[in-house]
Amino acid sequence: MTVIYPGTFDPVTNGHLDIISRASGLFESVIVAILENPQKKPLFTPREREKMMKETVKNFTNVNVEIFHGLLVHFVRRKGCRLVLRGLRAISDYEYETQLALTNRKLAPEIETIFLPTSTEYSYLNSSAVKEVARFGGCVRGLVPSMVEKNLQKKFQVDSQTEKS
Ligand code: ADP
Repeated sequence: MTVIYPGTFDPVTNGHLDIISRASGLFESVIVAILENPQKKPLFTPREREKMMKETVKNFTNVNVEIFHGLLVHFVRRKGCRLVLRGLRAISDYEYETQLALTNRKLAPEIETIFLPTSTEYSYLNSSAVKEVARFGGCVRGLVPSMVEKNLQKKFQVDSQTEKS
């Protein structure tokens, strides 16, 4: 069975990678679906997020990366798929995630959402915190793949140069 793992992935962290790597061992194939949602004002463009994700998962032969916009259930149906995967960090994720899962079930009763609990070492990790640390020059080594670390540095260097000029 194919599972779809949707998210913003702005940028991909080692927590996301942990979920993807475990899902890759559990399912026939995994589609990582990157949401193009301009309302969220992401730091990285959909293409940049896709490029970083592709590089991150390049060693998993059964993992593919795609960009989608609009409703997740429409994308899942277009792919002929019935399973959505989400990661759960803490109890705080639970309320939001069940709300999302129930809304999706209402829209598309044939689609099920399943949850994988995070590995404990990544339970505190999220993309927003990573961006905040990197923005102010903190070290994000070990929190994100090294290529993402470089991209964060580049992004914030460009930003601070534009602010100065
Ligand atoms: P969204 O904006 O849709 O929440 P994210 O990119 O923040 O997208 O996260 C995508 C998915 O990965 C979500 O299911 C989220 O709970 C999960 N996730 C985020 N960070 C971690 C982590 N450190 N460990 C496990 N799962 C995570």
